[in-house]
Amino acid sequence: MTGAVNFYNREVETRSRDELRTLQDRRLRELMRELTPNRFYQEKSRAAGIELARITRAEDLLSLPFTTKQELIDEQTGHPPFGRLLTYPLWRYRYFHQTSGTTGRPLKWLDTEESWNWWTRCWGYVYRGAGVNSEDIVFCAFSFGPYISHWTAIAGAWHIGAMCISGGGMNSEQRLQSLIDNRATVLVCTATYALHLAEVARGLGIDLRAPAVRLGIYAGEPGASLPNVKRAIEDAWGATCFDHAGATEAGAWAFDCEAQAGAIHLNEAEFIFEVIDPESGESIGEGERGDLVITNLGRAGMPVIRYRTGDLVELTTEPCPCGRSFARIKGGVLGRADDMIIVRGVNLYPSAIDDLIRGVPLVFEYEVEISRVAGMDELLMRIETADAASFEEAARQLTHSFRTAHSIRVNVEHSPAGSLPRYEFKSRRFKRIAT
Ligand SMILES: [Zn+2]
Repeated sequence: MTGAVNFYNREVETRSRDELRTLQDRRLRELMRELTPNRFYQEKSRAAGIELARITRAEDLLSLPFTTKQELIDEQTGHPPFGRLLTYPLWRYRYFHQTSGTTGRPLKWLDTEESWNWWTRCWGYVYRGAGVNSEDIVFCAFSFGPYISHWTAIAGAWHIGAMCISGGGMNSEQRLQSLIDNRATVLVCTATYALHLAEVARGLGIDLRAPAVRLGIYAGEPGASLPNVKRAIEDAWGATCFDHAGATEAGAWAFDCEAQAGAIHLNEAEFIFEVIDPESGESIGEGERGDLVITNLGRAGMPVIRYRTGDLVELTTEPCPCGRSFARIKGGVLGRADDMIIVRGVNLYPSAIDDLIRGVPLVFEYEVEISRVAGMDELLMRIETADAASFEEAARQLTHSFRTAHSIRVNVEHSPAGSLPRYEFKSRRFKRIAT
């Protein structure tokens, strides 16, 4: 790699793994002391026969039950509006956010001033890891509303001293105009939206490689670590693509570094991570895929303890060329355990399909319909291309890449240009239809 490596906190990020574990243990003890008034976690651990006060090291967490998103939603339904999830009296809280609720009831999440400072610190690692500095102008293109990613991305940019433009209430054309006029150097949005903005720019005759944007940080869905998606975004923008992972309830827990080595860092200064077998719940080692479990260490007001994210990852502690000792996940978040599709005995995740389709630049947009025929999943891909001739060529390339990569046959159908939906936040290109 070239150039100086940028750290948010070099001393912490380059500690030995033993020293990191010591730091995590100390912060875990502090958190457990703070949680004495937290009824949800106190009752949950007592029901499992454990006192939170006896959790003094990361390995002690293994004796506690997992926490699931459904459990948190049920808690807020049973004890509206926030559940018994708050550690402190309500007056201590200042920030209200909620999830989009695309997979059910929205989850509400509150932060105190201390927890908010923790969020901005976590974003500090994300920005500095990508080499963002106080001379940069960050353009944030998330939806404006009660969703936390927009607000934390802005607060995080301010925290590291960068100027930040909110593109929250704008349409795509206004966003393009603003980021060009104001010479934004960093774009923050979802991978899906980076590609969508590029398509809008093409339609307007704007060459995105000319503006000042030098890098993008893409959060909210798997994508920015998928080789073909990454390449498509970098080609369109002429700017390095950095992956980032986080969630409303858990925090900004992973970031990409300038080494761009195909794996992103887990922030082990602010979180404790486990990877488990999704079926048995047992811990699994490096090199195997499993469900990521998170405990955050700096959000005592409303923490998550042993939280099952449902994100499928593969852990590695191999040293990264950037010099950080934080563990990494290979290829970013690989998908969600509950999104798995089985086509003729082959297990596929939407992210893997997305990557293959993005490997065919003739495809502007697509949609995948999954139907179950005689107990097996069948895939039908609808793709948008410029014309009939380019459809023939795109279909040929797609058929070939699915056969080569997964030994499966796929059905491809043409959709007229501009007919498929476009997405601003997380895409919903995969549709399961009842048969
Ligand atoms: Zn690194």
